[in-house]
Amino acid sequence: MSKRDYYDVLGVSKSASKDEIKKAYRKLSKKYHPDINKESDADEKFKEVKEAYEVLSDEQKRAHYDQFGHTDPNQGFGGGDFGGGFGGFEDIFNTFFGGGGGRRRDPNAPRQGADLQYTMTLKFEEAVFGKETEIEIPREETCDTCGGSGAKPGTKPETCKHCQGSGQLNVEQNTPFGRIVNRRSCPYCEGTGKEIKHKCTTCSGSGMVQKRRKITVKIPAGVDDGQQLRVAGKGEPGINGGPQGDLYIVFHIRTHEFFERDGDDIYCEMPITFVQASLGDEIEVPTLHGKVKLKIPAGTQTGTRFRLKGKGVPNVRGYGTGDQHVIVRIMTPTKLTDKQKDLLREFADVSGQTPLGEHEESFFSKVKRAFKGD
Ligand SMILES: [Zn+2]
Ligand SMILES: [Zn+2]
Repeated sequence: MSKRDYYDVLGVSKSASKDEIKKAYRKLSKKYHPDINKESDADEKFKEVKEAYEVLSDEQKRAHYDQFGHTDPNQGFGGGDFGGGFGGFEDIFNTFFGGGGGRRRDPNAPRQGADLQYTMTLKFEEAVFGKETEIEIPREETCDTCGGSGAKPGTKPETCKHCQGSGQLNVEQNTPFGRIVNRRSCPYCEGTGKEIKHKCTTCSGSGMVQKRRKITVKIPAGVDDGQQLRVAGKGEPGINGGPQGDLYIVFHIRTHEFFERDGDDIYCEMPITFVQASLGDEIEVPTLHGKVKLKIPAGTQTGTRFRLKGKGVPNVRGYGTGDQHVIVRIMTPTKLTDKQKDLLREFADVSGQTPLGEHEESFFSKVKRAFKGD
């Protein structure tokens, strides 16, 4: 489930003044107050309204919200927007269908602009540490020549004579059951309720032009593959003075040749020699935060996992940092000199055929029993 836009919750526009926000909050908090409203979801709605007011009434929090939507770590994450899924598309869906899935009403009513989606590919480290970047997105913008009216400068769009500006026409039909009146979108003004006699030449009367717009985006540290960031108000412009749509940035993160990521944890494999594994050693391990020394105890087995606490990925919601897990692999030497071979034979003579160590002995006896068949 996608978290509802705070402005939608309070039913105010994105440019609403402090006073308007306060008024809307007073009205709604009264309406949904659990002491007054006994509907089952009143409590939830009351909380939603309260939360929206807390953010929008605070200038700083509101500015954050306008830029990052529900994704700002300082405000805590709320549900779908950063859940890694595609929660935001519900919003996109709603936008296309006029906010509530309802029928289009007055063509002159303000409507929110369309949401936009942008896929951004990040390097492994960029996703881990975040960055500020500028992106260029093509989007529809209000035509500068006509100010969005679609009419040639010096002229004005007129109210459509056919539908009297309502954008809809009544079409009467005679049927065996009597006369039926259907309402249909006005074909003369295409449902806009306006008639443009002299069209603006820049936008051909649509009031909109395609532009490439540069937007600075702050990518929070710790974003993961498939997650999306909502940049509020950076979608297409609203219609009839409605609020702007939102921009959704979906992240695609490149793999790394050495590190592997699982959530906030990092995994890597380190090769060690069987001498290091047998006698113990201190090795240097690369991490995203620089080199770290790791003690290999004597008698370490291949596949043993060591944890480097806090050397993983910062949590995108601001809940600490993950760990790095180092899995050691004991490399069997392949290109041995004659001297090395001699030493190993000597080692084998001293040790006998049975692998040394307690674990191997018990494992080895199982192998022996398997051969005997008992
Ligand atoms: Zn124009
Ligand atoms: Zn019309």
